[in-house]
Amino acid sequence: MPRVLMLHDESPRCRVVDLPLADLPHRAISVDIDYSDLNYKDALAVTGKGKIVRDYPFVPGIDFVGTVRESHHEQYASGDRVILTGWGVGERYWGGYAEAMNVDPEWLVPCPSPLNSRKAMLLGTAGLTAMLCMMRLEEAGLPPGAAVLVTGATGGVGSWAVSILHHLDYEVHAVTGKPEQREWLESLGAREVLDRSEFEGEPLPLEKGRWVGAIDTVGGRTLANVLARMTYHGRVAAVGLAGGTDLPTTVMPFILRGVSLLGTDSVMIPFERRRAAWQRLSALPNGLFERMAVDEIGLEQIEQRAEDMLAGKVHGRVLINPK
Ligand code: NDP
Repeated sequence: MPRVLMLHDESPRCRVVDLPLADLPHRAISVDIDYSDLNYKDALAVTGKGKIVRDYPFVPGIDFVGTVRESHHEQYASGDRVILTGWGVGERYWGGYAEAMNVDPEWLVPCPSPLNSRKAMLLGTAGLTAMLCMMRLEEAGLPPGAAVLVTGATGGVGSWAVSILHHLDYEVHAVTGKPEQREWLESLGAREVLDRSEFEGEPLPLEKGRWVGAIDTVGGRTLANVLARMTYHGRVAAVGLAGGTDLPTTVMPFILRGVSLLGTDSVMIPFERRRAAWQRLSALPNGLFERMAVDEIGLEQIEQRAEDMLAGKVHGRVLINPK
């Protein structure tokens, strides 16, 4: 019987239970899960602080990596290593906080062979999303070596964005609310570390243009301030809402500087683009994985770590080993 984290809409919200295989959802592919991880959306789901989950009891976890145990679909065979991110898994469909889960074949991508399971989930949705932002910036013509700003830089998406941009020889400027992580951000490749407070004031329509590109995981006033500080024809990949869902900006950055706001989604992107992003991620050198901050926990610790994440006490990645 696989162990699963069962989420309820009453206290205690999280209970780790042994669930008979027959009680898992009936879907074509059965996967034995090696690792899941903790993302901002998971933290909102687990704590109930965001309206992510509506039907209880529920198994959360928006992503996982594992091995196919049984397949009733031609696309996958027993023994295949697979990654799942997005598609509403961990929101509408039971997810990765379990030793095993049954899923639809369309939700999976083959795990590229250079990635072992641990590396695949060190990346997880966070690494995939950072790479998708990178691709958006490249497709919008980001010039080689350009100065690129990353907000929420110590978070999962933010720290992978810093690492990947540096690896690709961009000049990375990192914005953080955790000054104690300055050295770590520099070790990932940040040329300059800026304090979050510099981006939290009332946004002006335009300010001196400093950055040619940006990856924003924060939203709200931070994104408005980022837009106002982009150079002529700057591009901003907007991906997150850790600082709010509003956007108190004006049209000035767009009509006077030709700034592009590039929305970036990881949940519903088509298979081929996912696979292309995972191929690029699988070619990242080992050093990037070694420098990533990682906290490995079991199913029992998820609830506490989710609270910590929303309280801003987590940096880097939280890896979940369900065994
Ligand atoms: P993390 O919690 O790992 O990182 C979020 C980071 O944002 C924090 O570490 C912190 O970084 C910063 N932050 C947190 N609260 C605030 C605040 N109130 N004001 C300003 N900055 C804040 O989350 P993830 O990396 O998993 O996700 C980041 C964001 O991206 C989330 O909003 C998430 O929902 C979104 N996301 C969107 C995806 C998509 O498909 N569109 C996919 C994945 C994530 P620091 O202390 O360094 O400032």
